[in-house]
Amino acid sequence: MATSMLIAGETVGAKSGKTLEVRNPANGEVVDTVPKGSLADVDAAVDAAAKAFPAWASLSGAKRAQLMHEAARKVKAAVPEIAKLLTLEQGKPLAHAVLEASRVSENLDYYAGLADKLRGDYVPLEDANKFGLTLRRPVGVVVAITPWNFPLTLMANKVAPALAAGCTVVLKPASTTPLATQRTIEIINSVGLPAGVLNTVHGPGGEIGDALVSHKKVNKIAFTGQTETGKRIMQLAAQNVTRVTLELGGSDPMIVCDDADIRRATAATAIGRFFNAGQACLAVKRVYLFEAIAQEFMQKIADRAAKEWPVGDGLKEGVKMGPLHTERQRAEVEAQVADAVKRGAKVLAGGKRPEGKEFEKGWFMEATVLTDVPEDSRMATEEVFGPALPVFIVKDLDEAIAKSNASVYGLGSSIWTKDLAKARKAAEQIEAGYTWVNDIQVAYDQLPFGGAKQSGFGKEHGIEALDGYLEKKSVVLAY
Ligand code: NAD
Repeated sequence: MATSMLIAGETVGAKSGKTLEVRNPANGEVVDTVPKGSLADVDAAVDAAAKAFPAWASLSGAKRAQLMHEAARKVKAAVPEIAKLLTLEQGKPLAHAVLEASRVSENLDYYAGLADKLRGDYVPLEDANKFGLTLRRPVGVVVAITPWNFPLTLMANKVAPALAAGCTVVLKPASTTPLATQRTIEIINSVGLPAGVLNTVHGPGGEIGDALVSHKKVNKIAFTGQTETGKRIMQLAAQNVTRVTLELGGSDPMIVCDDADIRRATAATAIGRFFNAGQACLAVKRVYLFEAIAQEFMQKIADRAAKEWPVGDGLKEGVKMGPLHTERQRAEVEAQVADAVKRGAKVLAGGKRPEGKEFEKGWFMEATVLTDVPEDSRMATEEVFGPALPVFIVKDLDEAIAKSNASVYGLGSSIWTKDLAKARKAAEQIEAGYTWVNDIQVAYDQLPFGGAKQSGFGKEHGIEALDGYLEKKSVVLAY
């Protein structure tokens, strides 16, 4: 079996005939191959999207909504098939892959529900013989670029609002996770989208990314990935003044006050740090503990890490944490942990690879918790994109907020307290796109999501996401 690209309504290989292997991170075996796209394929996909744009943009919102609801229904029916592909290529436990695939269907329904409700304004003007209108027009061809950690939800976050707004799309998934995405796109396309409305190209970002991002016929880039890649995309996009939304890295702080519910807070911390083997943009990445509860919290989170996160192949029953996605990714997290330990940090849980034959061929790592981590160490200052958590002790809320903000990132954040005044202060002062109070870091379709500082700009989720795919035009009517 070989997976294809979708260009102008056809499933095709690369014009060069080249392919890429996609490997299972749990055992290194080849799952499938995909076409290795080149500049010629990028051109073909962008041309197809540009050609399809005028008709798609002028189709009624109600018709676009109907197609998208139908796509949601078909994706939902295919969740078992899509989820298995996702586990095989990405490594995450099957139950979590099912959750992720299901979110695509929900997201399509959410934006389908808005597709026929887009409208502008009537604006009275001073001159009695004139009035103003604002129209909202789709921006045009969108290039959507997604990473490997949540390939499906991050694809849906872009494709669904783009289609609802009347834009056409060229999607490039990460080259290590193209399979579940391609299958899902083919299902969405199969409901009768006009040829060229939705296209994919596959291949390493380093090779075809630049061509996609700097293509003259592209009007908007919706990117999720590392901050360094985002900076490069922003530079390239400047050449044609192409619009960008950038969803980048994060190092989310969690503050735990002395009145917090420690049982619930540690449960949320464990999920927030170890879900998806810690490879999540929104994740608990630094914990700041008030002294009075620090020992109890550390004991409980270490216990949870050691007992509640069984590691293994994502297809195996009972596994809660799969392998890291690549050998390089595990090496990076191990190096960050080693740097902290070398400089005096204490390992409270994990800190190594699990032992046994079943782990030999995959990129596994234990759920890890560290304390006494120096504040200028890599774990404190960089994004840790894996299952390793540093905990720090602070004297009060001011110190916790100052340390939370001492990061170049500003994606998510959370605080655990029963004191509304503390919660309000944290919500107002933490520099981030999201603050949860006494809750687990879960993003909602209804609420806009996006970063501050070097975590990027522009919103996904919520009605606000549509703003990234629409332009307001002012019209004056005189009579
Ligand atoms: P990455 O930046 O390496 O790759 C992301 C995508 O960009 C891939 O499809 C890749 O092929 C492509 N790419 C690479 N170079 C490119 C170039 N020059 N031009 C165009 N495209 C290029 O990121 P990753 O390692 O796959 O993902 C992990 C990162 O993503 C983490 O930093 C994580 O925090 C971040 N992330 C952010 C969010 C968010 O919403 N803010 C969500 C998930 C992940």
